[in-house]
Amino acid sequence: MNFDEYAKTAVDLVNAQVETLDDVRAFFGSDSWQATECGERDVAALRKGSKRLREVFEHGSAGRDIAAVEALNLLLEAHPVQPRISGHEVNDWHMHVTGRGSSVAAEHMAGAVWGLAVWLCEYGSARFGVCADERCGNVYLDTSSNCCRRFCSERCATRSHVAAHRARKRAAEVEAGPADLAPVDEVAERAVVGA
Ligand SMILES: [Zn+2]
Ligand SMILES: [Zn+2]
Repeated sequence: MNFDEYAKTAVDLVNAQVETLDDVRAFFGSDSWQATECGERDVAALRKGSKRLREVFEHGSAGRDIAAVEALNLLLEAHPVQPRISGHEVNDWHMHVTGRGSSVAAEHMAGAVWGLAVWLCEYGSARFGVCADERCGNVYLDTSSNCCRRFCSERCATRSHVAAHRARKRAAEVEAGPADLAPVDEVAERAVVGA
């Protein structure tokens, strides 16, 4: 795992539903060690962690750079990491981080917070995004070349563009309505006058 992938685990947690133990098991995957070991404490900790991570995205996407940094520094304090050089194959050395606590939630939060913190230093908090579709609310990491992404997914972008198009069309129809009728009246009046 590189920091990029750790940052993505923060996005995944914020966008996931973690209200119940079943939610949390589904989030990690039913075959995972986390699904086997997680308990109600993890549910509570992940729910709280998810809210705090969302705040970091909200600060970043609203241009509150210092607030995003401060929120992440507090999270780093609350979730200290234990780094470790790891290699799944020979010469494939890379960093892994684990939490100091051994719970499922502590482990996930440590990686997520570390990933987001490194991401912020590397790319800046302006690249933390909250989907512009209010009904969605998902967060994302903006990797676009010009930092202009506004939606969490293609699906939300398309849905929002279709909705905006329909709204414009409706507005145009309402405006065009009376204007369309006027000439008809004029024609009728002229016809009467002519007769
Ligand atoms: Zn690895
Ligand atoms: Zn969205």
